[in-house]
Amino acid sequence: MREKIVAGNWKMNTSIREGKQLVLDIIDRIGKLPSGVTLIVAPPFTHLCPVARLIGDRKTPGLAAQNCADKESGAFTGEVSASMLASVPCGYVILGHSERRAYYGETNEILLEKIKLVLASGLRPVFCVGEILEERESNMHFQVVSSQLREVLCQLEPAGFAQVIVAYEPVWAIGTGKTATSEQAQEMHAFIRSFLAETFGEQAESTPILYGGSCKPSNAADIFSQPDVDGGLIGGASLKADDFLAIAGSFA
Ligand code: PEP
Repeated sequence: MREKIVAGNWKMNTSIREGKQLVLDIIDRIGKLPSGVTLIVAPPFTHLCPVARLIGDRKTPGLAAQNCADKESGAFTGEVSASMLASVPCGYVILGHSERRAYYGETNEILLEKIKLVLASGLRPVFCVGEILEERESNMHFQVVSSQLREVLCQLEPAGFAQVIVAYEPVWAIGTGKTATSEQAQEMHAFIRSFLAETFGEQAESTPILYGGSCKPSNAADIFSQPDVDGGLIGGASLKADDFLAIAGSFA
């Protein structure tokens, strides 16, 4: 049985006060979730400590950062290291989100450094892959995703890989209201799992692979019903506790 995970990426949204209220609303209603579903919230860096205090000893929601530095420590003004995140404490770090790749020049090479530091700090990476529209339209999507996997995840030791959560996020579906069909999601998720199995064998059977891209309460059940879809990475809809929890309640 693979883990079921629904993670909310708040991006650069909410004040600390709003973020704390959002987490309190989630905690308030979490009891109604299907058992075995892990919720994760990923607020901005500034919110991590206050949100961690609200979460306290609870197992869920887990706490994620949206990024971390590719260096361990030192003179890197404005950066936040993986070990600092571990000291919050955070449990997870989103890495390789398409916005980081597109706007901040994060390459697979940089992401490999980041993921190693995240693993060395005892945190679990949520590693994002996905193609842009032109790549899908020119039938390059499998090639693009396989390079992202080969150049980063396939370079890890099996023990590190065991901690990884993958998020397939077709870039054309992020924040656009366009969602991949459940067939498109399943096709890519199955491809990702079999590609990872070439390096990691049976271990890939246990890797959670989340779908991201305009996932909302009205389409989550259909997408989550697919055999290789183990949950979602949710952007816009994670900013409303009701929508986020409705998505998390969509597993059959
Ligand atoms: C995301 O940015 O990870 C995402 C999936 O965003 P949205 O749900 O808003 O498309």
